[in-house]
Amino acid sequence: MSKIRNIVILTGAGISAESGIDTFRAGANGGPSLWEQHRVEDVATPEGFARDPELVLRFYDRRRAAIQTKEPNPAHFALAQLDAEWAGELLIVTQNVDDLHERAGARRVLHMHGEHLTAWCSSCDVRSPLTASLIERPPCPVCAARTLRPDVVWFGEMPYRMDEIYAALRTCDLFVSIGTSGAVYPAAGFVQNAVELGTETLELNLERSQGSGMFHETRLGPASALVPQWVEEMLA
Ligand code: NAD
Repeated sequence: MSKIRNIVILTGAGISAESGIDTFRAGANGGPSLWEQHRVEDVATPEGFARDPELVLRFYDRRRAAIQTKEPNPAHFALAQLDAEWAGELLIVTQNVDDLHERAGARRVLHMHGEHLTAWCSSCDVRSPLTASLIERPPCPVCAARTLRPDVVWFGEMPYRMDEIYAALRTCDLFVSIGTSGAVYPAAGFVQNAVELGTETLELNLERSQGSGMFHETRLGPASALVPQWVEEMLA
């Protein structure tokens, strides 16, 4: 551990679970994957949006409103402290679309699956801040077209800033995965990239993820306990 200088941390829905934000339920025994009682195909795919835009806009409007009532938990604060005090390179790659890392004070954060608090205009391709709802089809603040959509990467779409993520993975000495099921690619493949490059890997999760066997070390428990403990070790 003393040789570690550059760190990449991947976070998933599990780090925000103790803040009261629902994780995503992967379908067991071939059953549908559910997110707040909705089938993922209905609310998190371009096809679902084309089929029923009202349903999708309402779903994200509810989640956008909900995250604004939630607070970061000790796991978010611990990562923010690590970010502030770690002298080497550090990148928090989050699959989460909430803003709890930033509200805890973290700066080096990359949202690979987009953000609830921005909207993306499919006419002018510009992303703008958004705290209100999209269901009334507000005009884009840049081009005025009423074609704003949630700035969330849906299944079948390309996650953001993959070149930056792979560049950070190539030069890191430690890859840490926190609160992610290892079911959603390409993020689920990062541990394999890291192992192939000879990077140390650590998993912090409530239960073993799908790729758990690939990590050099796995610690099981709630993020609010495991993450502050690990950060303390790193800063000791
Ligand atoms: P996931 O919901 O598939 O898996 C969550 C993981 O977190 C599970 O492995 C679970 O064991 C673990 N977990 C649950 N509670 C925990 C706790 N208290 N401490 C530690 N671990 C805990 O999440 P995912 O792998 O991030 O993939 C789901 C997709 O859905 C992502 O693409 C993400 O963008 C999206 N999503 C985002 C949010 C959010 O922004 N907060 C919430 C739900 C889903």
